[in-house]
Amino acid sequence: MSVAPLNNPPVITDLTIWEDDPASGVFTIAPKPDVTLPPLKFLFPGAVPPVSNDINSPAFRYWTAAEALKRGANFWAPIVPQPKWWQRGETLEVHLDRWEDLEADYDRNALNFYHGPSACGKVYSCASPDVVCHELGHAILDAIRPSLWTAHLQEVASFHETFGDMSAILCALQLPSLRQAILVETYGNLCGDSRLSRIGEQFGTAVHALYPKDADPNCLRNASSFFSYCDPSSLPSSALTTSLSSNPHSFSRVFTGALFEALADMLTLSAVDPNAPTPNELLAVTEDMRDILAGAATKANQVSGYFAEVATAIALQSAQKNQNYLGIFLGAFVSHSILSMETAVTIQSSPDALQAEFDEMADDSRFAESFTMVLPALRYGLAEDLYVDMISPRQGFVARSAGRDGKSVEPASLATATEAFVDELFLTGQVDYNDYGARGFKPYGRRRSKTHELVRTDGGLKLQRRLFH
Ligand SMILES: [Zn+2]
Repeated sequence: MSVAPLNNPPVITDLTIWEDDPASGVFTIAPKPDVTLPPLKFLFPGAVPPVSNDINSPAFRYWTAAEALKRGANFWAPIVPQPKWWQRGETLEVHLDRWEDLEADYDRNALNFYHGPSACGKVYSCASPDVVCHELGHAILDAIRPSLWTAHLQEVASFHETFGDMSAILCALQLPSLRQAILVETYGNLCGDSRLSRIGEQFGTAVHALYPKDADPNCLRNASSFFSYCDPSSLPSSALTTSLSSNPHSFSRVFTGALFEALADMLTLSAVDPNAPTPNELLAVTEDMRDILAGAATKANQVSGYFAEVATAIALQSAQKNQNYLGIFLGAFVSHSILSMETAVTIQSSPDALQAEFDEMADDSRFAESFTMVLPALRYGLAEDLYVDMISPRQGFVARSAGRDGKSVEPASLATATEAFVDELFLTGQVDYNDYGARGFKPYGRRRSKTHELVRTDGGLKLQRRLFH
């Protein structure tokens, strides 16, 4: 037996990492990543730590996060146009432990993770591949559809959260060991409650302990969700997780639940033996779902009824991939009232013509109209009125969501939906006033990390997105 000399240690090529989340307690082996390589490069400031199998060490968290991000970047890269860059350039920074806060976010410059208290000691948001790949999903969607960042609409913000949760699910399924384990756990029927559907178990439990309305007791969110659509402006701004609220994380569960059901049905449809789908068949449907979501996200217009609009784009895109997918997606969207029966029937009767219309209108800004709405300073405790920009795109086929009876409902006007979103941001303390508050006014909100901020521009005082959690 030969022994490597101490000054020439063996090169480590494989890592032991958490498979999906520390709370699952399941390890897997994965290739050691190089995050500085294309496609979609990352920069982790500071020295690269040696590989460690101490699950409580910063080094273990570093390599778990690095592997998850590289795996996720490789998965999403095929749908990012050349050159494969992030929204703000070639490299995206990753900060694994900013400071104490029960948060994780994407702010266009970086993916940021934090630590906070839990019953078991400190919990680190970067320790969960689920949470890491959720934030990665925000960065990917921002790279391929940057205009969603500036839309002041509840349904657009909620779809961004759905995309993040689908990123967590689809990236997890790129691990062969997890595909095998999930098929065993769910008996091949993916859409039930499982380790796959529960996103961010450890972090969610810690969040629930401090903020019971913001997470389930056993995870951040569960994709096995059966909530049905209703106009988000009719909902309260916060609610226990057993109910829907207009908060984007809560409301996103309507759309995520439909997509998770569709993913399960795509697998059943594609499997040679529907009662025993294989890991390779599961891998193939994750790639189909990726292509469908990305293709639709780049085509859907940012309208007041965005859920119906993007659901229509997804259904049409799915038919391009596989004619038999169309019925699966329409069924999932109708059962969650995201599409009315009438809209679904229209899509089913002429998918090719509607797809051609979506393709023609995608990114066609020539016919879009811009508006500015002035909201009164007094309402928000501001020193001056607030100017909110809106863009009304040219729209062809008008998709509709449904009421409880399955019939089409008219969405709120663009101005009404925008005002509802802005009101909720202030009401829930998501706006950093940046010294533009009225004298003596103290802003609301218990969270330190704000999704939006006030900025002074040539066009007056404006609201600007800072990050997605
Ligand atoms: Zn998010």
